[in-house]
Amino acid sequence: MKVISIGRFECREVRDLADAFIDNELLVETTLQVLGHIDRCRDCRAFVEEKIRLKRLVYTSVKQLDVPETLRGNVWEQIRKKGESQWRDYRERMY
Ligand SMILES: [Zn+2]
Repeated sequence: MKVISIGRFECREVRDLADAFIDNELLVETTLQVLGHIDRCRDCRAFVEEKIRLKRLVYTSVKQLDVPETLRGNVWEQIRKKGESQWRDYRERMY
């Protein structure tokens, strides 16, 4: 049986790729290499887990940001006005 070696990643490489790895932006082969490394290397696993924890924290904080009701209303009002004026322009050109 032939064993295909896919090269071992160094800690530095894994840490450089950590963000792309977490965001699932790596090629399958690279993802497997990173997984293989963090399976063996406790430090890199901790590094990646910490990054995941931070990303989740940022994501949930942003999601919970409260947009004031008045701002939300203003934005919708602007969108509605813009839409109406564009519709008026369109009708004037057509008829
Ligand atoms: Zn490592």
